[in-house]
Amino acid sequence: MSIPKYYYNLIDENDPNDPIKKLCFPNAFEADLMGDTDTSGESSNTKMPGLQHKYSTTALVLTTSACFMYCRHCFRKRMVGSNSDEINNRMKETIKYLKEHEEVNNVLLTGGDSFCMSNEQIENYLKNLVEIEHLDFIRFGTRALVVFPERIYGDQELIDILAKYNDKKKIVIITQFNHPRELTVEAKRAIDMLLKKGIAINNQAVILKGVNDDPKVLAELLNGLTRVGINPYYVFQCRPVKGAKAGFQKTLLESYELVKETKQYLNGIGKRFKLIMSHVQGKIEIIGIENNKMIFKFHQTKYIDNNERIFIREIDVNGK
Ligand code: SF4
Repeated sequence: MSIPKYYYNLIDENDPNDPIKKLCFPNAFEADLMGDTDTSGESSNTKMPGLQHKYSTTALVLTTSACFMYCRHCFRKRMVGSNSDEINNRMKETIKYLKEHEEVNNVLLTGGDSFCMSNEQIENYLKNLVEIEHLDFIRFGTRALVVFPERIYGDQELIDILAKYNDKKKIVIITQFNHPRELTVEAKRAIDMLLKKGIAINNQAVILKGVNDDPKVLAELLNGLTRVGINPYYVFQCRPVKGAKAGFQKTLLESYELVKETKQYLNGIGKRFKLIMSHVQGKIEIIGIENNKMIFKFHQTKYIDNNERIFIREIDVNGK
């Protein structure tokens, strides 16, 4: 358990069901271990410790197992906050792999929280990656904007490093705001500093029971993101993670209905996101329902035969 003081102060202590508290304090339902520890088959995509290659164009590097906050719904609960052997400590071999795989056009530096790395480590990755010609851009997976924005607005050196390499190869921040109350003045200050340097920010919200599963709350979040200049890139179905599934996961039907209702409050820019379910075979978009059947489409796929494949499944009364 780790909660930055900044995030702790967002909790409304008078509200026994405070959504912010649910996101950061251990919940009793975490003792229910139904679900899995590796819900998207990360072990089978691992090419060397800390380097995953699931989709042909994207490689993923687990740079650290540390996070500023240990989110209670985290899908990498199995390794965050511990001395995991899933972490990448092989810069040379990693760069060699990326150079040899010309189909890779972007790299996601994640973890853990990639901004938990020192500025020196961040620069070392950037220095090596910008030299790989076939990369179009470099992504950082970080929740610093959400849980500890001072990491960004309080560190001019970090901003300068990002700006310097963004001039050579585009940098994209992938973050995860899940509740409108997380869009604070401090978060906005950090967001503005990145945007002013031309660094794009994309958000991957997760639908979480008791947190953002109200159309007005989710709409406030998505509208708030577009207001501050963040692209609402994905809205995720919560994965069936051990310790998170029991208390956070809605059924597919509930998530679909939630998003459908939410969209009535959004403009076209706010509706750019896709409703996505992660799966060992890829990212699957939940498109709609017709005659009690749910329509899905592969958005990202591990196996080329599934590329853009649409499929239909019956949904039972529980929406599973
Ligand atoms: S910051 Fe990301 S990796 Fe770390 S605990 Fe939260 S969701 Fe998991």
